[in-house]
Amino acid sequence: DQPRRRAGRHMLQIPGPSNTPDRILRAMDGAVMDHRGPDFAGLGRRALEGMQSIFRTEHPVVIYPASGTGAWEAALVNTLSPGDRVLMYETGHFASLWAKLARRIGLEPEVIEGDWRSGADPEAIARRLGVDREHEIRAVCVVHNETSTGSVSPISEIRRAIDETGHPALLMVDTISGLASIPYEHDGWGVDVTVTGSQKGLMLPPGLSFNALSPKALAASEASRMPRSYWSWDEMLGPNGKGYFPYTPATNMLYGLVEAIDMLHEEGLENVFARHARHGAATRAAVRAWGLEVLCNKQGHESGVLTAVLMPEGHSADAFRATVLEAFDMSLGNGLSKIADKVFRIGHLGDFNDLMLMATLSGIEMGLARAGVPHRPGGARAAMNHLTETEAPRAA
Ligand code: PLP
Repeated sequence: DQPRRRAGRHMLQIPGPSNTPDRILRAMDGAVMDHRGPDFAGLGRRALEGMQSIFRTEHPVVIYPASGTGAWEAALVNTLSPGDRVLMYETGHFASLWAKLARRIGLEPEVIEGDWRSGADPEAIARRLGVDREHEIRAVCVVHNETSTGSVSPISEIRRAIDETGHPALLMVDTISGLASIPYEHDGWGVDVTVTGSQKGLMLPPGLSFNALSPKALAASEASRMPRSYWSWDEMLGPNGKGYFPYTPATNMLYGLVEAIDMLHEEGLENVFARHARHGAATRAAVRAWGLEVLCNKQGHESGVLTAVLMPEGHSADAFRATVLEAFDMSLGNGLSKIADKVFRIGHLGDFNDLMLMATLSGIEMGLARAGVPHRPGGARAAMNHLTETEAPRAA
């Protein structure tokens, strides 16, 4: 079967991978260099130090040639010991996958169940830690931006709640889809291990993932007894100090990474965050004008990265997404596990501007009509009004 040629650009509006800008693709299009040679150290240092500026940390960052799942595993195997209890908050599908991973590698996750419509509740975490008098819980794991639901967890409030109990558990945060799109402060919020990936706010293709560490996490790694080799921070940190890696790094992804970091700083991180917040608000205005429901129902927890939309009863989200793909060449995110076919997800992250948002929302509004989904027209107009009434952030 000959694939049908489609004119114009495909609209990749899933909540990651996000659109990789041409400038990053061009930066990656270079000769592979000797990763043990003298020229490599400059690239390695720029990547490592640049990522410290994005995580907002003065402590070490580790870069893996792996998807985000690898960095999830790295966070756990570097800090914990077999049979350790970890408190994990189930904000959605990705939080439950992290708990499954923890169980498979021999940890004992204890899951606080959420309703998948909001971020983690600091008080629920504090209540559980408060009765853990023996300090059996070694770590609290939270997903910052839950990509399956479009809800954001209040990480600094969770840190404060943990501190108020006096409990010594480590705080580990997955901001795979949050970093470089919505505010994040590894040091400022007192996070011990932050996990992220390349394919969302960093605007890169999938393939790199990261851990940011704290001094407390580094101390825990010395006592930790989980078997590990490839993921070992200690193997990394020695060579990293000179700009090198213990094994062959993903050289061309690093070319792209340093370009992405430059682009984020050229725009200014605060402007990047404001841009995402504004696009999130415009998208929610569109959804409400259509008479549909945003999955995240807790004010202040709505994500600037993506918006998950509940389908009206009796209508298939997947059939709707298939209509949009077929008619308008746009990919929207699917509902995952228990909300499969019940929601579709609109990605508004990464290298994204007002007109890209308007194209996305127009495609959805036309798709709703075409697929016969009950809605009120005018969502795209409501988003346009929001964009017109709020000023676009300017580059610093
Ligand atoms: N955590 C979150 C919040 C994610 O969004 C994803 C992927 O979308 C993952 C973890 C898993 O990352 P990966 O698919 O890169 O292994």
